[in-house]
Amino acid sequence: VPRPSRGYATASPTAAFTGNRESNGKYKVTLIPGDGIGPEISESVKKIYAAAEVPIEWEEVSVTPVLKGGKTVIPDTAINSIKKNTVALKGPLATPIGKGHVSLNLTLRRTFNLFANVRPCASIKGYKTPYDDVNTVLIRENTEGEYSGIEHEIVDGVVQSIKLITWDASERVARYAFHYAQASGRKRVTAVHKANIMKMSDGMFLSACRQVSKEFPDVAYDEDLLDRACLQIVRNPLPFSNRVMVMPNLYGDILSDMCAGLIGGLGLTPSGNIGRDASIFEAVHGSAPDIAGKGLANPTALLLSSLMMLRHMNLNEYAAKIEKATLDTIAEGKSITGDLGGKATTKEYTTAIIDRL
Ligand code: NAD
Repeated sequence: VPRPSRGYATASPTAAFTGNRESNGKYKVTLIPGDGIGPEISESVKKIYAAAEVPIEWEEVSVTPVLKGGKTVIPDTAINSIKKNTVALKGPLATPIGKGHVSLNLTLRRTFNLFANVRPCASIKGYKTPYDDVNTVLIRENTEGEYSGIEHEIVDGVVQSIKLITWDASERVARYAFHYAQASGRKRVTAVHKANIMKMSDGMFLSACRQVSKEFPDVAYDEDLLDRACLQIVRNPLPFSNRVMVMPNLYGDILSDMCAGLIGGLGLTPSGNIGRDASIFEAVHGSAPDIAGKGLANPTALLLSSLMMLRHMNLNEYAAKIEKATLDTIAEGKSITGDLGGKATTKEYTTAIIDRL
């Protein structure tokens, strides 16, 4: 039985990648180093790409908010760079909790209508975890749900936060999930939901998934309650390995961190935010302020995200070469970072990967 790919490829039923190619044949790619450990792990990716002679040129921009017309917004230079290049690699961005500017991550997702967040989660051969055969892909609706950002205080002491679900966004992400399953050789799409409680909102999400499933008779379709899926996955993730799970925004955010825990943590899980006109690739983890600036960060998640990007750009050979060097370095276990139980610094780990290219 053919096994599905590791999921780092992104099937795009959206638009074929055209990109922004220089006269020297290289593609321009926007790079947002980000906050905290962002600059350190971005540096690592840049070094590995230079050593692997990947035919791209980085266009580095900052998304630190600026004041425009009394509002804090992402600078035009960053927005225009992503529009022009249509692909970006993004480091983590710190978001103030409970106050301050809106999440820049959310703003980018909305600005470019990045409707599907693809989060592959696959065990790394040779790196021992309680389970060594996890290989699942979560696809999270990325524009609405509880993260719509519609919140208000009705009266003192009562706050209302709106969970917005639309048919169009549900149908769009469901169709993407089925296309993704087909392109990556996965046999089943599972819609994850809480429609037993959220009868109308998750109910509509499910109806959209059911309708779309009829367009894909070669891909099996089923549904699972979020809580039940969590219980089953931590007990035995194997049955989830040949499939794609599609779900509303908040559920995907949480379930993907849980799955990251099964394979060795946040330092290893990549993601892609896919839109029709642009796509932004980033690690699942945040800015890790506790280890920032210490040279301890694991750059693998950002690196694997960049490989999803290379495959999106049809630069598959480069992606395969870097992926092999990375996974072999981790499997060997001599030069791995502290989060994986090793002693290597970010730089030493980066050098070990480069030595295998
Ligand atoms: P976090 O992911 O930054 O860190 C959680 C834990 O995992 C920390 O102990 C950290 O040291 C560790 N960790 C994370 N990435 C690592 C790596 N690459 N190597 C080694 N260890 C790593 O989560 P948090 O502390 O909850 O969030 C910090 C900030 O990041 C917050 O401001 C949050 O809003 C932001 N954030 C941003 C994104 C994003 O930009 N997409 C995602 C999540 C969180």
